[in-house]
Amino acid sequence: MTAWGAESLLTEEQEAIRDVLNGFARRVMRPLGQKLDRIDPGEQLAPGSPYWSFMKEFATLGISVADLMAMPEAERAVLLCIANEEFGYGDGGLAIVLGATMLPHVMMHMFGRSDLIAKYPEGVPGCWAITEPDHGTDMLDPNGAIFAPNAKYGRPNCVAKFEADRIVLQGQKAAWCSNAPAAEICVLYVAADTGNGADPRNGACIIVPLDAPGVTKGRVIAKMGQRALPQGELFFDNVELPLDNVIAGPEDYKRAVYGVHAEANTLMGAVWTGNARSAYELAWDYAHERKQGGVPIIRHQSVAQRLFHMARKIELSRALTRRVALYNATAPTPSLPSAMMAKITGTQTAFEVASDAMQIFGGNGMTDEYPIEKTFRDARLALIEDGCNEILSIKGGYGLADPERFA
Ligand SMILES: Cc1cc2nc3c(=O)[nH]c(=O)nc-3n(C[C@H](O)[C@H](O)[C@H](O)COP(=O)(O)OP(=O)(O)OC[C@H]3O[C@@H](n4cnc5c(N)ncnc54)[C@H](O)[C@@H]3O)c2cc1C
Repeated sequence: MTAWGAESLLTEEQEAIRDVLNGFARRVMRPLGQKLDRIDPGEQLAPGSPYWSFMKEFATLGISVADLMAMPEAERAVLLCIANEEFGYGDGGLAIVLGATMLPHVMMHMFGRSDLIAKYPEGVPGCWAITEPDHGTDMLDPNGAIFAPNAKYGRPNCVAKFEADRIVLQGQKAAWCSNAPAAEICVLYVAADTGNGADPRNGACIIVPLDAPGVTKGRVIAKMGQRALPQGELFFDNVELPLDNVIAGPEDYKRAVYGVHAEANTLMGAVWTGNARSAYELAWDYAHERKQGGVPIIRHQSVAQRLFHMARKIELSRALTRRVALYNATAPTPSLPSAMMAKITGTQTAFEVASDAMQIFGGNGMTDEYPIEKTFRDARLALIEDGCNEILSIKGGYGLADPERFA
């Protein structure tokens, strides 16, 4: 896509990294993502599946959480935006596989847990389990800010009971745990019972090895988009773990939620900016090839102005996401409202741009002969993933209020 100067220039090194990752996105992610999109969910993780080819190819890039975490914060922030945009450009679902698989390691580093890093070395595939059958985006809101005045939280579906020398997990997490069916460890966000009953507001963040006795997995769920991303339930039946596996206990739980929420929402902005860029490019290309009235359709005003607005939204989304990532990387406390703005802007942009791209493709866009319908399906899920956009904006909106003006 042409550079319009809406974003600050990249260094030569950053450009070189972007080019390598763009090659990976085109050569590996796009074709494997398309194959996985057509595979029955039950076969997605079978030996020889494109999922495993993807993971093998990704390993050759040599990207490591430890190296990333050792970088200066601002440098890392820009690099993560560049990388995630290219991954989202390649395939939205596979980009989320990468985020999910690395997340437990990111959290171990964030909380300085070298003991756990040694116990669960990098390369062990991971996932994030926070939502539950009865609790969705509210799990990202331990302050209860989003609830309607008379609402009650209700019973958690999963509880970590703290005993003198161990924790015991009982219950289940939602079918939405990204990459759980393939994962070997999970970073679990769960209501904690420290002797006075389970309280989701005082939860715990725990590293759970998924081969521990009592852990079982649900089937890979079938869904309309991001089908390259395997998702499924996790069940815990009296799973006993040492207290050392707790990354954050009740006293630190809000910080753990806040940390993962700010980081994940910002990077969602980058992933879905990349997805929007891929939709734009498909439409731009098609608009030069398809003729109506004897001219390529890009010569028709409605198509030209539609493409212009698509490009404008992508530039805005990228600029906002990079600015938020840079600010949050260096600020004393990351700004959660800004991260939510990046997530909402990136995902809304992906959805709108993919929808506009479908319109430019006309009838052809509705068929699976053309890749644009998959990009649109992938983008649709992102409005819900990582917190429904409307709930995130309610939370962000409450944050705008100045309590001193209420008197
Ligand atoms: C592709 C994808 C990937 C995901 N990955 C993960 C993952 O890795 N790990 C994980 O744990 N979860 C994951 N999720 C789950 C995701 O975070 C939840 O689906 C999401 O938070 C919404 O929860 P829910 O589906 O239970 O919807 P509900 O919470 O039941 O919401 C249903 C509707 O009601 C609205 N609503 C609910 N509460 C309120 C409120 N207080 N105020 C206003 N409106 C409200 C919502 O906006 C929504 O429109 C993923 C989901 C998707 C789609």
